[in-house]
Amino acid sequence: MLGADGPREDQSIRVGERGLARAELLERAAGVAAEIAGAGAVAVHATASVETVVAVVGGLLAGVPVVPLPPDSGPDERAHILGDSGAGLLLAARGAYEPVKGEPPLVPVDELGRGGPVKDEAPGDATALILYTSGTTGAPKGVLVSRSAIAAGLDALAAAWEWTPDDVLVHGLPLFHVHGLVLGVLGALRVGSPLVHTGRPKAEAYAAAAQADGGSLFFGVPTVWSRVCAEPEAARALRGARLLVSGSAPLPVPVFERLADLTGHRPVERYGMTETLITVSARAGGERRPGYVGLPLPGVETRLAAEDGGPVPADGETPGELQLRAPMLFGGYLNRPEATAASFTADGWFRTGDIATIGPDGWHRIVGRASTDLIKSGGYRIGAGEVENALLAHPAVREAAVVGTPHPDLGEQVTAYVVAGTGADERTLIDFVAERLSAHKRPRTVHLVEALPRNAMGKVVKTRLGG
Ligand code: ATP
Ligand code: MG
Repeated sequence: MLGADGPREDQSIRVGERGLARAELLERAAGVAAEIAGAGAVAVHATASVETVVAVVGGLLAGVPVVPLPPDSGPDERAHILGDSGAGLLLAARGAYEPVKGEPPLVPVDELGRGGPVKDEAPGDATALILYTSGTTGAPKGVLVSRSAIAAGLDALAAAWEWTPDDVLVHGLPLFHVHGLVLGVLGALRVGSPLVHTGRPKAEAYAAAAQADGGSLFFGVPTVWSRVCAEPEAARALRGARLLVSGSAPLPVPVFERLADLTGHRPVERYGMTETLITVSARAGGERRPGYVGLPLPGVETRLAAEDGGPVPADGETPGELQLRAPMLFGGYLNRPEATAASFTADGWFRTGDIATIGPDGWHRIVGRASTDLIKSGGYRIGAGEVENALLAHPAVREAAVVGTPHPDLGEQVTAYVVAGTGADERTLIDFVAERLSAHKRPRTVHLVEALPRNAMGKVVKTRLGG
């Protein structure tokens, strides 16, 4: 699974200031594997550090499921993840984390010796990772991710993005989430491209990696790309890159366009979930469309379903729930058989819970999440994203989140939360949207706020709006 054949011998993995050659990483990981052999599952205090990479690869070599813990998780989240996963050991650098009473004992990753060569050969259906979802819509769920799902998911991405050992991958995303860890670390190891992890996803650090390290492939979530756009000089430094990729949340159209102007690259947007890895993406060698997440990856089948489960036409206009069949799907939610069963249709398709449209040309557009982004107002169904994009088109608007709130006659009304500079008051913004969209989509209320509530992946947590 770590790509024994293709990778460059001189592959290096750098996280922040510290780097490791591939051979050294594998030796240190083998030392971890020897220490944890036979454990049921191990947790990793997943800071952005080489120790996290060593610990995760050690788990893969040992065939022991790894549970990455967000390093800044509060005591409740930590207790939930440790208790739910049943992890028996906690891997971290000495001093990086001290387990409290009731938590699993520490294995100091930085103090272990190197191990001899270990074959990376656990069976494909073995659980490699237990990844917790981002908690955008409720308590994070433990997702069982198998070795074969990771392998299938990464190979499909490498093909779609023409990702080869000649690339230098750059990102600064958290290492406890599918994006930074599976795509951003295991992807680099499987493909064999050097990795420069910038510690944090900062615009200047991306620029420095483009210039000093030959960065060619850049990953970011939309908040990262919007920060890059806010530093035009840093953005221009990305002109020499090969591919900029955005995912984990919708990339606002104005950010897509500004990024394209500044860097000369129209970003590749892709769509995925912890449960499915990446299933839909624009292609390196093809078209990129603002507001769209692309085409299904090889091996992925998609369809749309109405609320009653009936079919929805792929006419590019009619929204429905996006459902999938794919080789990179998860093996179920840990300890939640009902949730696992409920996430599949009777005929075996995975229900993403996201509302999408699919065009006759196969291009997918994510309208939003069924649970928070579909507003039912006066008999209409309104996608929050369309109203958000209309608001974002106003030059003073920096961020926008739209939700449905109770209304006595309409059932729900369109309510917007906006972060804006001067020149945008409630009335102006309502009129601005009214000029662009049909009347029923216009917000009835606009709250001007200092910031939107976001989680570690930069996703707006809509359930915390208005509190
Ligand atoms: P939870 O399941 O705990 O509520 P979450 O769904 O945010 O959290 P993840 O698995 O990290 O957890 O995120 C998957 C979701 O992210 C998708 O279901 C989709 O709503 C959203 N998403 C990912 N990529 C994109 C994209 N390119 N455009 C729009 N939405 C996206
Ligand atoms: Mg989810």
